[in-house]
Amino acid sequence: MKEMLEMDYDAYFVGTGAPRGRDLDLPGRREVDEHISIGIDWLSSVAFGHTTSIEGNVIVMGGGNTAMDCCRTSKRLGAETVTVVVRSGFEVMKASEWEKEDAMSEGIPIINNRPPKEFVHENGKLKGVIFECVKPIEEGGRLKYIPTGEPDVFIECDHILMAIGQENHCPWIERDIGIEFDKWDCPILDEVTLQSTHPKIFFGGDSAFGPENIIWASAHAHQAAISIHLMCQGKDPKSDRPPEGLNLISQKMGVHEWAYDAEHDASKRYLVPHANRRRSLENIKVEVELGFDEILGSREAQRCLNCDVQTVFTEKLCIECDACVDICPMDCITFTANAEEDRLRNYLTAPASNLEQALYVSEELETGRVMVKDEDVCLHCGLCAERCPTNAWDMQKSIIHIPQLGSYAE
Ligand SMILES: Cc1cc2nc3c(=O)[nH]c(=O)nc-3n(C[C@H](O)[C@H](O)[C@H](O)COP(=O)(O)OP(=O)(O)OC[C@H]3O[C@@H](n4cnc5c(N)ncnc54)[C@H](O)[C@@H]3O)c2cc1C
Ligand code: SF4
Ligand code: SF4
Repeated sequence: MKEMLEMDYDAYFVGTGAPRGRDLDLPGRREVDEHISIGIDWLSSVAFGHTTSIEGNVIVMGGGNTAMDCCRTSKRLGAETVTVVVRSGFEVMKASEWEKEDAMSEGIPIINNRPPKEFVHENGKLKGVIFECVKPIEEGGRLKYIPTGEPDVFIECDHILMAIGQENHCPWIERDIGIEFDKWDCPILDEVTLQSTHPKIFFGGDSAFGPENIIWASAHAHQAAISIHLMCQGKDPKSDRPPEGLNLISQKMGVHEWAYDAEHDASKRYLVPHANRRRSLENIKVEVELGFDEILGSREAQRCLNCDVQTVFTEKLCIECDACVDICPMDCITFTANAEEDRLRNYLTAPASNLEQALYVSEELETGRVMVKDEDVCLHCGLCAERCPTNAWDMQKSIIHIPQLGSYAE
């Protein structure tokens, strides 16, 4: 980095990822080194074609998506048995629900609440791993794992894939050039501009705040590019930044007409079809998720609840005729005396029980009441706006504008 800084560019962007997989320093670890692989290194070796098989019984340690990739890849490369062992509970595993389901449906068991204690070996050969039995308890709002008192369990294996997390890893960045790092070895950054403590150096992707995903990496790249662009023009990357915005546009075309499809389709989510299991387990190149075809895709699209179309209420137009209350198929509109939120939730025609969803509460109306709407159950059908004689309800499309480089006028 020092050498690059000497070239005196105006700005530098670091996007080198978080390529170091974590390891576990437990008894026996060094003796069985050749039987343990770090999950992400092993997966990249498979991807580059250097590793084409794995034999015997495999334990995958870890509960994230990398662990799911490791176990399903091992199964395809010839492992006799594959077992995922996770130190925490099933519900709190980091892997996505569908990744866990897919791994289990391929016959891979996931064993939870088993932190590893020791690698067991004999004459330099790995025999297996001893795991402790723990259970979760809640303490001060956080999960803590305590021993269950059951005897430790031994699981036999010939190979271990370690997928217990990734670390930021920038050994090539000298620590005396003005970039400060925190205790997790992540660079200290401005969260908006992604500028480091060295004003010319910006970070993005996994190297910024630790491992995330591709969407975050792309978003960081846009934000850092805006910062660099502003800086190169002598502007301030923070105060001269283009603002994020939100537009609301009425969808009303006529009395009973909307510019969007307001019909509600109550079908359950359509599952993405998978390739034949036997075929996909035999060949790692076979894509498992086939994606929707045109028919299934359009059926799934029909389930859209038009969450981008909002019900917008204008207090001064409302004559409190209650027509919208009568017509709403979900009973989600109530006119009532105002109260504290927890009481208000229970005053509603249909009590609003999802505490994660804020209530939509109007300003005080003519009669001193307020309009309260439970957004959680609204179908965005537009019937309230159709029925309303004064246009106090309107259905408005919300368009969020997050500036990207090149998408705003300077
Ligand atoms: C097994 C696994 C599965 C994943 N699955 C998904 C998924 O399904 N969906 C999803 O959204 N995300 C997934 N992720 C996360 C996703 O891959 C990362 O969040 C994303 O790739 C981060 O992008 P990045 O550009 O920051 O880093 P990377 O994609 O890691 O790219 C960094 C690049 O920098 C290069 N590099 C490193 N050091 C140097 C150096 N000193 N000089 C020059 N070049 C260097 C590397 O070779 C690499 O090409 C997965 C991650 C893993 C490990
Ligand atoms: S859009 Fe439909 S479901 Fe939502 S409040 Fe209006 S009438 Fe009720
Ligand atoms: S139908 Fe319109 S005017 Fe009547 S109560 Fe509802 S919002 Fe108010």
